[in-house]
Amino acid sequence: MCLCCKAGMGHGKVYNTDTLEVHHIIPIEEDDDRKLDDDNLITVCRVHHEQCENGRISREKQKELVTESMHEENSEWGGGIYVL
Ligand SMILES: [Zn+2]
Repeated sequence: MCLCCKAGMGHGKVYNTDTLEVHHIIPIEEDDDRKLDDDNLITVCRVHHEQCENGRISREKQKELVTESMHEENSEWGGGIYVL
């Protein structure tokens, strides 16, 4: 599930969860070494991915969401996506 949708950032609306994408909080162009870091990756839907890209969702906020999700014990939705 999209972390932003899960956090209610779609204003109570959950966007399409079929098309999950992985967003790099710190872009690869900026720091290639971090492209596989778990805490640099956030799973988002297409709508929120765009907002992450254009800065409507700040990097700080993205990081916060990732950190939160990592601390969740029962993650039926977490860890389902791997970037190879
Ligand atoms: Zn979303």
